Amino acid sequence: MKYELPKLLYGYDALEPYIDAKTMELHYTKHHQTYVNKLNEALEKHPKLADKPLDELLGNLGAVPEDIRTAVRNHGGGHANHSFFWTIMGPHTADVNKEPSGDLAGEIKTAFGDFAQFKEAFTKAAGGVFGSGWAWLVVDEDGKLVITTTANQDSPLMNQQKPVLGLDVWEHAYYLKYQNKRPDYVDAWWNVVNWPAVDAKFGEAE
Ligand code: MN
Repeated sequence: MKYELPKLLYGYDALEPYIDAKTMELHYTKHHQTYVNKLNEALEKHPKLADKPLDELLGNLGAVPEDIRTAVRNHGGGHANHSFFWTIMGPHTADVNKEPSGDLAGEIKTAFGDFAQFKEAFTKAAGGVFGSGWAWLVVDEDGKLVITTTANQDSPLMNQQKPVLGLDVWEHAYYLKYQNKRPDYVDAWWNVVNWPAVDAKFGEAE
């Protein structure tokens, strides 16, 4: 099976002014597409891996043949991370982008004290990623909700963690609009987090 760019559920300009249309277009049609292409290119060398779900390949990279392991890690990770990222964002509306509800709201309270403290800790983690990478809220192997970061395109799936919320802090995600001011991008991003979608991810991860 060949991997394909997943359909984007909103327009390139839908996250304006927090994430600009040009960044969204380049990020989706160029950066993400390249991860997809290079993942397919790598897997062509080992057709018997074609039927394995990507989650499974990323969750056990040691079982991926050595000659394509780095490519699957980088481009498979990139494909998984971006596919996830698009779905947890959406156009800003007063209700949708405020905070989580239901089970996730309760678990965040248990793990971090309250939503404001969680937001602060996640923002700090995103700001602290050195170079290119991601900040995540994940359910770890013990079923605990934790904030973590990954370098490059490493996915939480590689660490047996299930992503609930993720933020791309590669410069390509914000440089056109925010230049070197990553903290401004992170602050703006909270306005387009689609909490009902994140609640659903938590439901799947539990
Ligand atoms: Mn990216």
